[in-house]
Amino acid sequence: MNDERIREKLSILADAAKYDVSCASSGSKRKNHNKGLGDASNGICHTYTEDGRCVSLLKILLTNHCIFDCAYCVSRKSNDIKRAAFTVQEVVDLTMNFYRRNYIEGLFLSSGIFKDADFTMERLVRIAKKLRTEHKFNGYIHLKSIPGASDELMREAGLYADRLSVNLELPTEAGLKLLAPDKNQKDMIKPMNFIKNEIILRQEEKTLFKKAPLFAPAGQSTQMVIGATPENDRQILYTANHFYNSFNLKRVYYSGYVPVSNDNRLPGLSSAVPMVRENRLYQADWLMRFYGFNVREIVDQNNPHLDLDIDPKLSWAIRNLQHFPIDINKADLQLIVRVPGIGVESAKKIVSGRKFGKLNWEHLKAMGIAVNRARYFIVCNSQDFERRELSGTKIKQFILAESQSKYLKQKPNQLSLF
Ligand code: SF4
Repeated sequence: MNDERIREKLSILADAAKYDVSCASSGSKRKNHNKGLGDASNGICHTYTEDGRCVSLLKILLTNHCIFDCAYCVSRKSNDIKRAAFTVQEVVDLTMNFYRRNYIEGLFLSSGIFKDADFTMERLVRIAKKLRTEHKFNGYIHLKSIPGASDELMREAGLYADRLSVNLELPTEAGLKLLAPDKNQKDMIKPMNFIKNEIILRQEEKTLFKKAPLFAPAGQSTQMVIGATPENDRQILYTANHFYNSFNLKRVYYSGYVPVSNDNRLPGLSSAVPMVRENRLYQADWLMRFYGFNVREIVDQNNPHLDLDIDPKLSWAIRNLQHFPIDINKADLQLIVRVPGIGVESAKKIVSGRKFGKLNWEHLKAMGIAVNRARYFIVCNSQDFERRELSGTKIKQFILAESQSKYLKQKPNQLSLF
């Protein structure tokens, strides 16, 4: 290996990959059975770069050559940038070297499209296959699926990768038409459907035959670029909700558009999407997946954008004061998790804690509840805070005045989820 050339390729292809945020790696159950290297069974320890992106995986493109010209993408064919491509063996060697040195715990591999979808996908699959079969690598592998690749290649990819993902790219077909005219949602839906069906099939086989091979055990995910096209948060979250329900996605990633071009179809070069918008979308996504919220409760015709000042759960509570206050000593778990300042784990602690006696503010604080937010929405066994009849606007003002919102003052390193 020519070290200098490899280093140069690495700098080009790791830099090009940083725009893809779909690299979280939890959820895999791959064990180290064969005295090989690594074990993805406990998920991967994530670390975050200054701008909040995950770097615990070796995250690279196989190449930044591309036959397509998606306006929002730095690798688009019309962009005058330095191009590079790894060989299959180079990616395998880099992964093994970095893994042995403890720099990484897995590989996140995406690619521009050389020549055609099959030509590119075949190389991605060969890398994963070599790692698994020749090097007995049991670390985490996330492969991007190239829309248009054959079912045979997709099937093989799922045998070696922990997670597969197909990028939706933009939230609507109209957005794709505008900025990525070579693409349409149908091309992305086909592989997503294939992956979904294959996962179900392999799970059924596994119940019958213990030794049946795994297929993408960490499931599939997708990513949307936010802010390159004018969709509002309602359109974005409705799209996410549809794809969660229709394709059993594990995650939808929201990647704030980073201005890469002065193309007049795109927002200006100085209009990067604020990190806080990305964070609010992740928080809303979390509400749909773990807190029992329907997407219609989070955004609607009258509220098509998430409030950037406060998190979406607080925003919902303020718009729905008729449901509050709830009595923390009596309410169901499903209601308690809807209270601002109370997460799922804290809500469970409340439900088990109250078996031993009535809970007051001190108990709630000891359980880690953000009482400064929750107190506007609950009553408990205590008179310390007398709940006054406050309007939603007043409650928001009080909470904002008290809050030390890190989002508005500085870029966060990691998401805070309520
Ligand atoms: S196909 Fe992918 S890599 Fe190629 S220009 Fe479009 S987004 Fe970029």
